[in-house]
Amino acid sequence: MTSEKLLELQLTDSHIDLLRNRMPKLPEVVASNGADAEVAAWGRTHAQLQGRITELEAAITVSEHANAAIAIKRSRLEQQLKTVIAPREAEALMHEIALLNAQRSDLDDEELAAMDSLSEAEADLAENAAKESLVRDAAAVAAERAAAARAASEADIAASTIVREALRSEFDAEMLGRYDSMRLAHNGVAVAKLNGLRCEGCHLDLSRGEVDEMKRAPIDELVECSNCGRLLVR
Ligand SMILES: [Zn+2]
Repeated sequence: MTSEKLLELQLTDSHIDLLRNRMPKLPEVVASNGADAEVAAWGRTHAQLQGRITELEAAITVSEHANAAIAIKRSRLEQQLKTVIAPREAEALMHEIALLNAQRSDLDDEELAAMDSLSEAEADLAENAAKESLVRDAAAVAAERAAAARAASEADIAASTIVREALRSEFDAEMLGRYDSMRLAHNGVAVAKLNGLRCEGCHLDLSRGEVDEMKRAPIDELVECSNCGRLLVR
């Protein structure tokens, strides 16, 4: 009687343990974690593209300033060119102007490339932005489902806990202490069934003599497996 009730308590505790262990692995919870990861990935892409756009805009501004500086220098040189008479001086000025033109041409090429990259990044940003509500809505729906699945598990645990408390009230403190410390020592399973010669807790066989002795013991006397120490239900 005692040992059967104890086995019942063990099965209830094992059921509660199983529900708790399963909670983070529930498909709805796993799906919700996945959807949250998608939102995080979306945010990273968004920030990355924004950073790229800021960089390119800054590079374009730098090019424009450099171009403006070259334009000022060139018009000054062109003014000088109108006033010089010596052909050597004119030649030197013309050479400087040609160098400035070459610099400007390089800058223009760089700026054009940056502008191409900028419009590409802006298009990517717009494309990514269009996905935002999709990703966020999916995560919200998944979170709701996960919460519902968790609540169902919690309700199951609560119901089993009521059964557990009712069962525990049938034992005295000493028995409960023994049971609880055994559960701690044996990975949650303190009570096992004796199936023939085999302990269902450690799956090892006891000797025929041990089992015969257990069977002769009074029904209320608790016996332990000589291999694993769990309480055995005959
Ligand atoms: Zn055992």
